[in-house]
Amino acid sequence: SDAMLAIRDLKVHFPLANGQVVRAVDGVSLTLRPGETVGLVGESGSGKTTVGKTALRLVPATDGEIRIGDLDVLNASGRDLRRLRRKAQIIFQDPHSSLNPRMTIRRAVAEGLILNTSLRGRVLREKVSDTLIAMGLPPQFHDRFPHELSGGQKQRVCIARALVLDPDLLVLDEPTSALDVSVQAQILGVLKDLRAERPSLTQLFISHNLAVIRFLCQRVAVMYLGKIVEEGPVEQVFSDPRHPYTRALLSAVPVPEAGRRPDRTRLTGDIPSPTAVPKGCAFHTRCPVARKGLCDTTPPPQVAAGGGHVALCHFAGEMQTT
Ligand code: SF4
Repeated sequence: SDAMLAIRDLKVHFPLANGQVVRAVDGVSLTLRPGETVGLVGESGSGKTTVGKTALRLVPATDGEIRIGDLDVLNASGRDLRRLRRKAQIIFQDPHSSLNPRMTIRRAVAEGLILNTSLRGRVLREKVSDTLIAMGLPPQFHDRFPHELSGGQKQRVCIARALVLDPDLLVLDEPTSALDVSVQAQILGVLKDLRAERPSLTQLFISHNLAVIRFLCQRVAVMYLGKIVEEGPVEQVFSDPRHPYTRALLSAVPVPEAGRRPDRTRLTGDIPSPTAVPKGCAFHTRCPVARKGLCDTTPPPQVAAGGGHVALCHFAGEMQTT
């Protein structure tokens, strides 16, 4: 297959002690071609982080299929599971808690190579220091401990630790959200450069921030209550959003854009609990254009808008921005 990451009808449900079930992910399908950078966006509670963690088998799936290249992620064991641990890497939001405080950063980056490859000695040392230097950490940093580094430097170490294994797939889970605003732009620059330096690296970028996704990604998938409600090429989704939820998210983006009419779509109320997903279209309780007798009873179809742009809404074909 020509997919690097293929997720099919993924469900991740967590039973609670009181008998309720959290439908964190409820039928997600998403395909990333080799070298593609795809953003997964949504509010907290949308299930976006659970999708990323399940793809790397850090969270067990309830149902569905996930493939990374030819590897069957949900059924991998033994040698395949070790291959998965090397080929697919994840960067978490908080670099501090991802690093062992008693390990120098040189050691932190070397560890994965020692565990997963046969590289040793000078070759290993050079690969480690080259990777750290490429991430903007010169040699005088390499024998320092995490507490001697800033938040941005620690996140660079985490990125180096992932890249040193030459992964095929990188999942980035809000990699700049825990950093100072002044440092976020630097790390975004590092990630932007990655696309040019490693064009074959496939990236799934999870964020609540649409502007960041627009800056870094080629395609975007918008999640709401465990489902992808809109998906397509970034520029197309930003200029011609078809789902009312995407329109609401975009109208919350502060930078006004030339040529785009001010969008008055506003979200009202809180996101419902994933233990009580509304019937019909799950967004109908907050949707400004919901139609009674349809949206609250009938799940919407997936409507194609051309060029791989799709939206899950009864009226997606009628949405116009101009
Ligand atoms: Fe709104 Fe109805 Fe579309 Fe759902 S299907 S997003 S409730 S208009």
